[in-house]
Amino acid sequence: MTHAPGHKPRKRFGQNFLQDASVIHQIVESLAPAPDDVVIEIGPGLGALTRALLATVNTLHVVELDRDLAMYLPQRLGNPANLVVHQADALTFDFTTLCPERENKTIKIVGNLPYNVSTPLILRLMHTLPQAERLVFMVQAEVANRLCAVPGNKNYGRLTLMTQYFCEIETLFEVSNQAFYPIPKVQSAVIACFPHRSLPYVAENFVTFEQVVKQAFGQRRKTIANTLKTTATVEQLKAAGISPTVRPEQVSLEQFVCLSNDLSAD
Ligand code: SAM
Repeated sequence: MTHAPGHKPRKRFGQNFLQDASVIHQIVESLAPAPDDVVIEIGPGLGALTRALLATVNTLHVVELDRDLAMYLPQRLGNPANLVVHQADALTFDFTTLCPERENKTIKIVGNLPYNVSTPLILRLMHTLPQAERLVFMVQAEVANRLCAVPGNKNYGRLTLMTQYFCEIETLFEVSNQAFYPIPKVQSAVIACFPHRSLPYVAENFVTFEQVVKQAFGQRRKTIANTLKTTATVEQLKAAGISPTVRPEQVSLEQFVCLSNDLSAD
């Protein structure tokens, strides 16, 4: 059965349910949950992934926005004792309550994310749970390309820098739209994020870093000297190792952090 009784997939919640057992298996394998890990699934929906995760951990927390699905899930899965359902919006839910520092457990987060919330959610998790060891997410293939891009690539931009500041990201595998019900228009990919244990480049003022990156990519076809002309002088660019004539997409994370540190020191 693909539906909760009377449940019609809701577009506004990005409900495209996974139907492919081998994709589910690969996601769980990539997360590699150990019984004692704190594992949190975002958007369990009808429980396709949840069922497989429950078999691997002592406790599984799930955060589901749709009230009907959140209520129906335990029953659908046979009321497992190790399932804890939080009916909440993952964009505002306080994840730190599930990960007490004193317990010092390994935190892993997983989800077939609704497309409309995937980028704000990933950015929020980077800020709020930097101690997480691994995050494995199904996202739109186009978002995966932006998250994993390297300097010089057309997909390299603000999202790339704001996430790669906090973690290493890789695309694990692509998933055909046929793996879901209903079939989405776009292709998907599964990514893994590994938050840095200590940041390789530290922005002394994170807000300045965010603003510089945002302004730089406001007009990505212009030179970096041009897009940042109200913020940085050519000398400041050069001091950060940035050639003024390159485009923003050719500037590395290290160079953006170096420039923003110079600007925030003024
Ligand atoms: N995990 C299920 C699967 O793979 O079949 C469902 C995935 S479906 C793409 C996304 C799920 O996230 C839906 O169950 C939807 O109701 C839920 N959802 C949407 N927005 C959410 C939010 N802001 N917070 C938590 N869950 C959300």
